[in-house]
Formats: sequence, structure tokens, C-alpha cells
Amino acid sequence: MMSDIIRLLPDSVANQIAAGEVIQRPASALKELLENAIDAGATEIKISVKDSGKTLIQVIDNGCGMSEADAGLCFERHATSKIQEANDLFAIQTLGFRGEALASIAAIAQVELRTKRVGDELGSVIVIEGSKIKSQSPLNCLDGTSVSVKNLFFNVPARRNFLKSNSAELRHIIEEFHRSALVHNKISFSLQHNDKQLFKLNKCTLLERIIALYGNIYRERFIPLEQKTNEITISGYIGKPEYAKKTRGEQYFFANKRFIKHAYLNHSVANALQELLPKDTFPTYFIYIEVDPKDIDVNIHPTKTEVNFLNNQLLYALLRTTIKQSLGKHSITPTIDFDVEQSLDLGPPKKGQPIKNPFHREHSEYNPFDVKSPGRPAQKPTGRQKTNKEHWKKLYEGHSKELTDLKSQVQPELSILPKEYSSDKDKKIIFQFNNQFILSKVKSGILLIDQHRAHERILYERYLEYLNTRKSVSQQELFPQNVSFSTSDAEIIKEIKDDLQILGFEINQLGKNTFIINGTPSEIHDGNLQQLMENVLENYKKNLVDLNLNNKINIARSMAANMAVRHGKPLKEEEMEKLIDELFACSVTEVSPGGHKIISIITIDQIEKMFK
Ligand code: ADP
Ligand code: MG
Repeated sequence: MMSDIIRLLPDSVANQIAAGEVIQRPASALKELLENAIDAGATEIKISVKDSGKTLIQVIDNGCGMSEADAGLCFERHATSKIQEANDLFAIQTLGFRGEALASIAAIAQVELRTKRVGDELGSVIVIEGSKIKSQSPLNCLDGTSVSVKNLFFNVPARRNFLKSNSAELRHIIEEFHRSALVHNKISFSLQHNDKQLFKLNKCTLLERIIALYGNIYRERFIPLEQKTNEITISGYIGKPEYAKKTRGEQYFFANKRFIKHAYLNHSVANALQELLPKDTFPTYFIYIEVDPKDIDVNIHPTKTEVNFLNNQLLYALLRTTIKQSLGKHSITPTIDFDVEQSLDLGPPKKGQPIKNPFHREHSEYNPFDVKSPGRPAQKPTGRQKTNKEHWKKLYEGHSKELTDLKSQVQPELSILPKEYSSDKDKKIIFQFNNQFILSKVKSGILLIDQHRAHERILYERYLEYLNTRKSVSQQELFPQNVSFSTSDAEIIKEIKDDLQILGFEINQLGKNTFIINGTPSEIHDGNLQQLMENVLENYKKNLVDLNLNNKINIARSMAANMAVRHGKPLKEEEMEKLIDELFACSVTEVSPGGHKIISIITIDQIEKMFK
């Protein structure tokens, strides 16, 4: 007879499975520990991280602490002090409620918990490893709780191997830290990484907290938001449209003091700012929403970052109106329909109104496996250089002959050819159109070149070669300028500083988030280095997120995009000639590193058709 085959999994296995959903990386463990400390009523939270959280994540709080019995219980699955019955799910005032986090973390790490309630004589210390309690004993310790999570995923090698580089994991940690710090401005926080202090934030106002995290330069970039109805309170700050970024990194929604992701609400913000935002940019915002706990379902996702609002559509409309009103108050909206808006159009967004895909990629044609795909590094520049020069020559072949032919046919008074060309037969005819395109006559028609994209391509290939060979581009000295960044951006600058140096930036760290620039690539002409560096960073982050580019390619691309001549810049004839020559010496001439078309030819056929 066959025996039954279904068995209940032991708790340790069940916990590991649950951990898979809740804890993806060190930052997720940090999130859960922070939530617990905040729920415990802490006013001071100290975080210490080693090796981007891979070796240690420790959170120390001065919250309510646990009794000896609770300390033993808290690692059990579904052990929570925050809800008691199903109905409580609709009145949640705390960040945690699932009773899963500590059980999950203890299943996949070596955890030490020290905790003591105010007034208790002694606290307790528990060591638990892979769901097994190793020791528990009384301990003389401070009020509050300290949880150390060591060697995350020590017993799940597949997961541990899946972790990203230290710098990537540290970015996640810092991002998680931001999400808590940005909403709990009444709590003081500190974050240490490998014994280096990254943040020390004192209790302060919300705006001061944002500025403490992002830097003083943000102070004049915001306008405040404020709205209160019976059901909903909206507050926070939105970045002025001119400071919109190329990445959506600085967009934060909080619902009842919980960081959330909400594509629908994000669309509402975008909608309110329509026509004010430069193309392909994303506004910065920190928006805080408060609703009655019964009007929000926070139990739809294991990490609790997705939520459902009972009245999504009302919230959408209210948010849009709030933003428009604030923009109006600060004279940023030129909208004529402002009066209409002010009367609170709370109807749902129109049916059929498309909601933008938030995961839209700018370079959808990018294919990392396709050698000719945009963004691929130059394969062997030397080999192809000639071919392209040839190609370029071919376009011009017979050109001077045609020119002579043409001149002999055209009556002198009807000649449309500029004088200088008639005296020098070999000279190419080149001129700039709309300060945007370079036009030239070639054998098969009229050649059009996008000046910005062409230069971007040239610089990209040059930069990449320099980065690969560690040779340096020429540099110009300048009057030293200070620039400063948010802590996470400053971390990136520190990481890529050496590469930027090769590309001509002489950067040295001055303060924690401040740098001094003593030299720049020779392409730079105008002086706003702060803006320029921010743009390079934005490109770099965007590429990281969207394209997962290798570092050198990413830096070369981000720099090229920002150093290349802009549309609108008048070019001298020699400059145009140089640009064309250099473009045709590139390994790829057709598309910019971002995959956009650089050259186009209007053929004689096409021109003839125009005259039919
Ligand atoms: P949840 O937060 O969903 O209740 P957790 O597994 O995160 O579940 O925590 C289990 C319980 O342990 C909490 O409900 C709380 O009672 C207690 N606890 C955890 N961390 C702390 C802390 N830092 N201070 C006080 N109590 C804590
Ligand atoms: Mg919790």
C-alpha cells in the first residue's frame, strides 16, 4: 500500500520560505529592524553596518524594550504584539503587524538580541541562528533593544551569491535609511558603515530633515504642499519643475508614515505638472498622506510597500489639485484654467485616460547582445576607423566634379553657391542649420548631421578608450569651485572619482558631501559645475537602473551626454569640419550611444519628388 506523502514543513523551513518573501537583501532586514524600533516608540536609533550589511546590520533603539518572555517569543512566526484579531488589520497604527520579520531574519542569519524594558532590573540576551536558539540569559544592559544580524543568508548560499556588489548593496541600505528618516523627523538617527559615520540626524522639522539628507542646495528647490479634508491630509514638498531630474530616484510617497510605491498617485503628480516639466524628466517630491487606518489596506504585499487606498480616485484628484494650487500660489503655473481647478474637481480621472507605464524605457531598442546595438563599446576602433573614413570619402567622391559641372550650367547671377567655394573646388560645403544640424552636400544628396548626437558619439568612444587604457584626456585648469551632493550621490562620486579624473575632472573631497573641482575636461565652457555634475550623476543613475550598463560604459555615456555640444550652439566652420571628420573616424557613425539617429541623407530622388 502507498503511504501518504503530504507532511507539514518544520518551522525552520517554513521560516526560510517566508524569509524569501520578506528579506531579499541586507536593506530589507534593515527596513524591518527600523520599523520595529520605530514601533517601539524609540526617539533615538543608531544603525551600524559592516560590508554593506552582508556581515553585520545592527540597530540599537531606546524604545520600550521587551520582557524576558517576550524576548524568547518574538522570533516565533506570527508572534506580534501589534494585532490580536483579524479586525485589527483595518485599524493598523504601527508599521509592523505580520509578526514575521524577526522569525524570517532569524531563519537566515545569526542574530543577537539584547533588550530591557524601562524599570526592569535586568534585560536579556538571546542568540539565535538558522531559527535555533543557541543561548538565552539575563543581562545587565541599557533600556531599549539592540538587534545584530550577522552573516545574512549564511545558510542560503544561493541567496548570498545573488547579492550585488558592496556599493550596490550600500546604496540600497542608504535608500532604506532615507525612507525611514524622511518621515520620522522627530527621531534622531545615525548610520555608520564600516566604522565610518555616514549620517547623524538630529530631531528637526521635516524640511530640515530633507535638507540634512539631500544637502543645502535643495532648500530653494521646493514648494510646500498643504491640504486637509475630513478624510485626507496631504503635506510635504514638491520640487520646482526646473529642477526635475532624469531619474525618478527622488520621489517619495508616505501613507500614514509608511513609505509606499504608488504608480497611480505618481501619475497624478505627473498630471499636475504636465507642460511644466522638461521632456523626459521626473519631478522630485516628498509627499505625506494621512488617512484613517480603515481607509487603507496595507496588507497586500509582504514588504508592505504597496497599499490600497479605499478611495483611490478621490486621492488622485485631491493630490493633483493640491499640487496645482501650490504651484499657483508660488506663481509657477501659467494655467488659465486655474480658477476651475481651485473649485476642487474631485471627479475621478476621465475614463480611458491612459496611465503612463512607469517602467517605460527610453532606449527600448537597446539589445546588449547585438554588437551594433546602441551603447555597445567600440569593438576594435582601429580596424574600423579606416573603413569609415573611406565611407566618408565616398560620400564626397565626385563632389568637386559635380560642383564644376553645376557651376558651368548655372548662370552667374542665379548662382546660389557661396563665393568661397567657387574659388576652392576641393572645399566641402558645410553649413549649420537652426544651430542644431550640420548640412553638407554629398554625392547622393544632402547630408544632415545632428550636432549634439554626433559629438556625443565622438566623446563616448574617446572616453571609453581613455577609461580602458587609463590614459587621460586633456584638462583645463580653472578657478576652484565647490560642489556638494546628497550623501548617496556623494557615495557615487567617490566611487567614480578616479574614472572622472581620467576624463578630465580634478575632483577632491572637501567635506563629507562636498568636493572641490580644480580642473575640468576641455569641452566644458560654461561655469555651472554643480548643475553639470548633477546631470552627469543623473545620467549615470538612470543608466544603472534602466540599462544595467557596465561601469566604464556608463561613465563614458553619462559624461558624453553632458559634455557634447548642445542644440542651439552656433558652430564655426572649422568646428563643423572637425566634428564631421571625427564622427566618421568613430567605430559607429549611425547612432548615438543612446541609440538615436545621428545622420540622415535627403536623396536626390526625394528632392526631385518634392518638385513633382
Ligand atoms: P511585527 O513587527 O510584525 O509585530 P516582528 O517579527 O517584526 O513582527 O516583531 C515581533 C514582535 O517583537 C513585535 O510585535 C514586538 O512586540 C517585538 N519587537 C521586535 N522588535 C522590537 C523592538 N526593537 N523593541 C521592542 N519590541 C520589539
Ligand atoms: Mg516588525
